[in-house]
Order: sequence, then C-alpha cells, then structure tokens
Amino acid sequence: MKNKHNTFGFSTRAIHYGYDAQDHHGALVPPIYLSATFAFPTAEYGAGCFAGEESGHFYTRISNPTLALLESRMATLEGGEAAVAFSSGMGAIAATFWTLLRPGDEVIVSQTLYGCTFALLHHGIAEFGIKVRHVDLSDLDALRAALSPATRMIYCETPANPNLQLIDIGAVAKIAHQQPGITVVIDNTYCTPYLQRPLELGADVVVHSATKYLSGHGDITAGIAVSRHDLAQRIRLQGLKDLTGAVLSPQDAFLLMRGLKTLALRMDRHCSNAQAVAEALQAHPAVESVTYPGLRSFPQYELAARQMKLSGGMIAFELKGGITTGRRFMNALKLFSRAVSLGDAESLAQHPASMTHSTYTPEQRAQHGISEGLVRLSVGLEDIADLLADIEQALAHCVKRAPALKQATHSV
Ligand SMILES: *Cc1c(COP(=O)(O)O)cnc(C)c1O
Repeated sequence: MKNKHNTFGFSTRAIHYGYDAQDHHGALVPPIYLSATFAFPTAEYGAGCFAGEESGHFYTRISNPTLALLESRMATLEGGEAAVAFSSGMGAIAATFWTLLRPGDEVIVSQTLYGCTFALLHHGIAEFGIKVRHVDLSDLDALRAALSPATRMIYCETPANPNLQLIDIGAVAKIAHQQPGITVVIDNTYCTPYLQRPLELGADVVVHSATKYLSGHGDITAGIAVSRHDLAQRIRLQGLKDLTGAVLSPQDAFLLMRGLKTLALRMDRHCSNAQAVAEALQAHPAVESVTYPGLRSFPQYELAARQMKLSGGMIAFELKGGITTGRRFMNALKLFSRAVSLGDAESLAQHPASMTHSTYTPEQRAQHGISEGLVRLSVGLEDIADLLADIEQALAHCVKRAPALKQATHSV
C-alpha cells in the first residue's frame, strides 16, 4: 500500500497513505526518525543535495522522513500536490505571508480573524511595508472594489474564529484569479479537509493550526500549509528553512498522524454533538442568540450547506445580560473546561474578547464583528447527554442569579 491510493476514500488515505510496512521491517505503525541530520554516501551526493539536484533528506529543518509522510497525507487529504509541516499554526501562517509578500504589496484579509493572525498582520508584516486591507469578503462587490494592481494575496478563515462568518471560497477565488499574481490563502482550521477542501474550490494555499482538530487530542502544537508543488517548495525553502525556522518535531508529526487516523470519526461526533448543543442553547430563555452553521437561523445557512459537508464543532453564542452573565455561565460549567484552543476531545468554553481576541482593541473588535458578550464553545467528544446536562445546569444557574433576568421575569 504505497503511493497508489489516491483512489481510496478519505479515512483509508488518512490511515494508510504513503506507507508500506515492508519497507520498515514490517512495522505496522510508521517509525519516528529522530535524526536532525542525514549522512551522505559521498561528498558529491551531499553537494547535490544542497544544489537541489538530489532529493534525499539531509537536515530536518528542510525535510525528514517522518515529516514527509505526514506532509504527503495532508496533501492527499486536502486535494493538494504538496504540504509543508510547521511547529505551530502561526508558524505556517507567518511562513506563508513572509514567502509570498514583499514591501509595497497589498494583502486583502477578511474582517474577522484569529487573534494572533490579526496581530501578525498589524504588528508584523504591516511594519515591513506591506499594506493590510480588511474587506468584508462575504460582499463580492466590496472585494472587486478593493482589488488593486498591488494586491498579491487574499487571506481568510471560513468559518471565521470566533464569530463563524462564512466566505464563499469559490466565488472569492474566481474574482481573485481574474487578476494575475494573486494567491488565495484559506485558513481551514475550523473545518479540516473532512468538512471542506478549499483547493478543490479554487484556493491556492490552505493553512492549518494542526494543534486543533487535525491532531485532535490537545497534546501538541503544529501547523500545515498545503498547495501546488512550486508554491509549497517556495514556502519550504524560504518561509520554513530561512524566515521562520518553525520546523515540526518528528515526535509531534507522529502524534499528528495518529490523530489523522480518527479525523473523520471524530469530526462526525464533534458535529453531531455541536448540533445538539446549539439547538439546546437556542431553545433556552436565558440565551440571546446562537451562531452555528447548522441552525436554520444561521444567516449563511445555504452557503454552509453547499460548502461544508457538516456544520462543525464550534458554536458562538450570547446570553441575555452580555458578558456578566456569560462569565457566570462559564464559571458554573462542570464538564466543559474553561480553556482556549479547540478541536480537543474535551469540550471547552472561552471568552474571545478577553482571551483569544484580546489582541484587538475594543474598538477593533466592534469594527471586526467580535461582540464583547460572545462566548465560544468547542464541543468535544463526550456523551451528548452529559454535555447537555452541563449546559442546562450552567444556564439554570445564570437565570436564577442574573439581575437583568429577574427584572424581566417581574415584568411578565
Ligand atoms: C489556533 C488557530 C491558529 C493558530 O495556530 P497555533 O497552532 O496556535 O499557532 C490559527 N488560525 C486559527 C483559525 C486558529 O484557531
């Protein structure tokens, strides 16, 4: 079972792709190559490696057999030609920006982005002469109007972290590619390739925080970029090798491949659990609003149904009484953990305005659609009855104690 399984299904490739046990003493599970450097058979061969004329591994910051297997699996799962592994999602994102942008270039980004991506743009690349323009990419006319001859990249998350706004990847890519020299980069962390494959919809590069669903167990930080061969090679040789040095450790690559084997199973469960939690929240009188792509009330429900296989494991919601009640809810949770990150087996709750998105100023949050009262849930893999019971008891606690709600009860 070697590289001949492009025709196999998603999970079969996630488990088998690119590996033949008979090449490794029959070891069913791929070994971890814990070697920083690789011996050259001859001096000439070593020189050939450095000249790019030989394809062997020679130093782990550039390539390593364990990383190469992971990269080939991520490439096939995303429907790309090649992938590059990184030590974090931010490593992958930074390496992609630094490789593809030069002073004088413009990058168009969506309104709502993960907090550290926002910080990298505004405190990082913008300070090196690259113009960052935020555009509501769900408005295609706004995108057309924002394009300029200096535009080199369009970058977005869909669904966006944390407010779950969607962007029509196919429509954005089509408009972008009417102008030569624009690269469309999608952060696919929330969906994983099991739910959404941006390259097949016309995007050029997919980046991931593999810390989240891809590894799935909250025990590593990792990142991935997937694209065509030529782009991936540039991201590897500039972004990874020289500009960031954010190389993934082979041990973490092993854990990430272990996570990939159950990705489809886990995503199915995350999605069905999240759907049930979202419906329970929506039905509760203490809740002001729920944002979840699987709810009929979701403003982009049709786009979600078209672009995503299932609705994902992330929910954003607001309680009546805003973050005062939101904090009370979070503190009352017993099974959900109060923690940032997402995509773990454990269910997590966090408050973006004071945690993951505190890199924005309050004014910027208001401008970028991140409300102060928003509570974000990453729905895990526990039994749904236990999750619903935890949500119900935490909400009951809110209703009883929230002064604003007492008032509302009196006036009924
Ligand atoms: C977590 C996250 C990142 C950053 O990834 P790290 O692995 O934490 O560096 C980037 N984008 C999104 C959407 C994320 O949720």
